[in-house]
Amino acid sequence: CGIVGYIGKRDSVPIIMDALQRLEYRGYDSAGIAVIDAAGHLTGSKAEGKLANLAARLRNGESLHGTTGVGHTRWATHGRPSDANAHPHLDCSGHFAVIHNGIIENYASLREQLLGQGHQFRSETDTEVLAHLIESHYNGDLEQAIRHTLAQVRGAFALGVISQDSPETLVFARNGATPLIVGLGEGEMFVASDIPAMLQHTRKVVILQEGEIVTVGRDGYALSAFDGTPIEREVQQITWDATS
Ligand code: GLU
Repeated sequence: CGIVGYIGKRDSVPIIMDALQRLEYRGYDSAGIAVIDAAGHLTGSKAEGKLANLAARLRNGESLHGTTGVGHTRWATHGRPSDANAHPHLDCSGHFAVIHNGIIENYASLREQLLGQGHQFRSETDTEVLAHLIESHYNGDLEQAIRHTLAQVRGAFALGVISQDSPETLVFARNGATPLIVGLGEGEMFVASDIPAMLQHTRKVVILQEGEIVTVGRDGYALSAFDGTPIEREVQQITWDATS
């Protein structure tokens, strides 16, 4: 139910954990995080229950570090709350990590199709089809694979993706009323489901509208429609403060 992304020079893990905490008011039943580590590998950790459970895992053995990462708090719609159903979800190769808010309405038929093609699923969620679809469309261009995936899925949702094949990039998309904000820093960028989650880092934000995809690097971003048409949007300066 909460979506977060970070790319920059700092370790993304404490920044993402802090942002997820600021999104706790939205409600959730599990949480997870995935990063590209210093060796260039995609790694992650997830846990049913409160963020404290995830934090305990990160302290006790599942230590994660990386300057590119995504995090998620889940409010289960498809598949019970569990470690396995918590996001991020991976494809078969383990190269792509996907976080997602909302519902993929046609996930059942897509899952059947993917199972027929030999994909193996690790969760009961609607979300996991996104990871496998991206894998099936990928031929070196992450954004393109996501565009092809978006053309196949129906529903109101927001999603975020990182790939160990494009460690310098975050890709997020919004299809429906699920909010998604990009925060512009100096040599670092933030993405979140709301503005207060990033206000201690930046006051410059770009708000995605429905049907938009954003590719984010540490020094900039590119906004476009799902069909690839580039979109210019004015950067907003936030002058108010979060109440908490
Ligand atoms: N439908 C997805 C799931 O059940 C995402 C739920 C959410 O918005 O957190 O895992």
